[in-house]
Amino acid sequence: MTTHLNHVTQNRQINDQQQSDVSLHASHGGLGFGELVPSRYALRVGEIDVLVVSDGVLPLPTSTMSTNASPADRAAWFKEMYLGPDAFDWALNVLVVRSSDQLILVDAGLGGQFPGFPRAGQLPKRLEAAGINLASVTDIVITHMHMDHIGGLLADEVKSRLRPDVRIHVAAAEVAFWELPDFTYTEMPAPVPDVLRATANQFIDDYRSNVRTFEDEYEVAPGVVVKLTGGHTPGHSVVYINSLGERLTFAGDALFPVAFQHPEWHNGFEHDPEESVRVRVRLMQEAAASGEWLVATHLPFPSVGRVAVDGDAFRWIAAFWDY
Ligand SMILES: [Zn+2]
Repeated sequence: MTTHLNHVTQNRQINDQQQSDVSLHASHGGLGFGELVPSRYALRVGEIDVLVVSDGVLPLPTSTMSTNASPADRAAWFKEMYLGPDAFDWALNVLVVRSSDQLILVDAGLGGQFPGFPRAGQLPKRLEAAGINLASVTDIVITHMHMDHIGGLLADEVKSRLRPDVRIHVAAAEVAFWELPDFTYTEMPAPVPDVLRATANQFIDDYRSNVRTFEDEYEVAPGVVVKLTGGHTPGHSVVYINSLGERLTFAGDALFPVAFQHPEWHNGFEHDPEESVRVRVRLMQEAAASGEWLVATHLPFPSVGRVAVDGDAFRWIAAFWDY
């Protein structure tokens, strides 16, 4: 009998504990204590400040990240990662860079461009939480003109705060591509292609006087160079940050989480999948040889890490968080 009572009492205590845990979390959100998971990660590359900011996540089919993989290979990889089986959340990372007296935004997240991705488009409030004033941004670098990279610039709260003379750097090949975009080799869920076209058109309409195109590469600020790679889109570019012998590369959409073990897997958003494979293998070989930091748009936040060669493929070595 005593045992039974003890048992009941113990259970009640556990239940009470669980309930108070639940209410604790609820009150955190309700009282505006902020988000439970941090959305920004700062590091220094020599004398250059770099901040990775999450715009949120994009729920997408696992097949989009492995369009040429067999269903069995795809299922095995995602199961091993405790993801899927049918869909998972892609990270959506944006970079803020301060070099000398310039403040540079690298890509701008999704904004409100696609109702199917309600958890993305958080950049404006997360920049504000990080103490970054959009009116202080001198330059914006666009890795490519897909909606999850330029959509944020179309949000009213962003447009109204950016300075009218902000410079937007994008490859000439990218601007030309979106005048008549080719989706022959992509595999995107409907209505994504239509929204991509409309978003790219609106971006050019809204920011025509701010856009500064470059052919092959351009030094945006001391130690900050944007360089054309092609592949994902014809004008896709990466950003190299170099200072005092240290280097960080922002790879944009050249790399996805599957890329290290399966660089040969095509992504449904790649307009030239074969060239995309060559681009990411070259970038990973460079990063493995130099030991530099690598950050990419859709690697899990904060997506700061290094790459090693691992047999015929590669291995991702996530940074130890430096608190
Ligand atoms: Zn993307």
